[in-house]
Amino acid sequence: MAAARQSAWESAQIQLAAAARHLGLEDGTHQLLATPRREMTVSIPLRRDDGHVEVLRGYRVQHNLSRGPAKGGIRYHPSTDIDEVRALAMWMTWKCALIGIPYGGAKGGVTIDPRLYSQNELERVTRRYASEILPIIGPERDIPAPDVGTDEQTMAWFMDTYSVNKGYTVTGVVTGKPISVGGSQGRGGATSRGVLFSAFAALREAGVDPRDVSVAVQGFGKVGGLAAQFLHDAGCKVVAVSDVKGGAYNSMGLNPAAMIRAMKQGLDSVAGYPGTDHISNEELIELDVDVLVPAALEGVVHESNADRVRARFIVEGANGPTTPDADEILEDRGVLVVPDILANSGGVAVSYFEWVQDLQAYWWTEDQVNDRLKAIMEGAYAEVSALARDEKVSLRTAAQMIGVGRVAEAHRTRGLYP
Ligand code: NAD
Repeated sequence: MAAARQSAWESAQIQLAAAARHLGLEDGTHQLLATPRREMTVSIPLRRDDGHVEVLRGYRVQHNLSRGPAKGGIRYHPSTDIDEVRALAMWMTWKCALIGIPYGGAKGGVTIDPRLYSQNELERVTRRYASEILPIIGPERDIPAPDVGTDEQTMAWFMDTYSVNKGYTVTGVVTGKPISVGGSQGRGGATSRGVLFSAFAALREAGVDPRDVSVAVQGFGKVGGLAAQFLHDAGCKVVAVSDVKGGAYNSMGLNPAAMIRAMKQGLDSVAGYPGTDHISNEELIELDVDVLVPAALEGVVHESNADRVRARFIVEGANGPTTPDADEILEDRGVLVVPDILANSGGVAVSYFEWVQDLQAYWWTEDQVNDRLKAIMEGAYAEVSALARDEKVSLRTAAQMIGVGRVAEAHRTRGLYP
């Protein structure tokens, strides 16, 4: 019988243990870092449009606060639970430390399938969830952002709810907001642009010309859609994309920008897009492409399919798409995995820029944002790659060692209270 697939929380713990071992971390510090600092579970009573009331579950986990206020997105998804949120919060801690921004890690979520709720209902869910977790968030405490199933409108409702409760406008309480209420130029595409930068850094190191490369992208949302478009615009051949309903494949290449436009105009799914063959999400993972960009959910490359992955490069737009079991198989097979905390860190980098701009009430141009993002991403990639070479470890272990090491260092320097 096949072993159960490793969950996100198990994966996060295994990755931390590997980094702790390589860093020679003392047990007490390892334990401290393995345990979330603060967790809040709330109930969210929602009056549906037809008048009946249902009660949803919401979470906010602050994994670590040693290097600054907590930072991390809010997910609306039917399979979201406290363990998933814990894992995502832990990855945020390492990610922020890795790219050198002064934040701890957090994540939030509501167990809900947002596709089944009206905009008015989602606004009520967001305002109630924001009110429930209000005691632990704020620009100096914990700053949410969008994740799966949430977007800039969600952040605008969130910011408004927080501000009304405070009695004045607090733009810096969330990032990923619309520009009209303190959002940053360049935030919308930041995660995807970061995926592009890290994919190109990996290709450059391997001596591969991006114009000779075919790409498959799983997840055609905020991250995957624009990652596909940026990779296409930069000369790669994007042959497959997918969403929760399935995928679209054309060996001659797709036009992601046209597909994004069609989705904005009301197309429900990329599956069955005109001029493409329908493929499943499972088939997409195993396609004969050079670069695979998982940009949907955790655990999609696992022990049972890792030996069938044909891509030479996996660039993790999503958080936690590759389980530790799969990592081992891929490493043995020479597949280069650019890990999530590096590959998708462009989003939190520009979230940091947004927060800085909000706190200063001073706005940067899109070029300033994109240039600074590129510098951060390329610097982080070079640092991770050099450590991986020196220590003879994977890019994931190297990235984790840098992130975990910096947080451990902050703990040591601050000391243990009391
Ligand atoms: P999104 O909600 O905008 O898009 C998610 C996409 O995944 C959609 O196309 C959806 O249809 C698809 N999807 C959902 N369930 C699926 C399933 N079971 N199988 C296949 N596809 C499925 O979310 P997003 O913001 O693009 O986030 C995607 C990933 O990127 C997540 O892992 C998220 O944590 C990570 N991430 C997001 C950001 C950001 O700035 N939004 C930053 C860093 C990392």
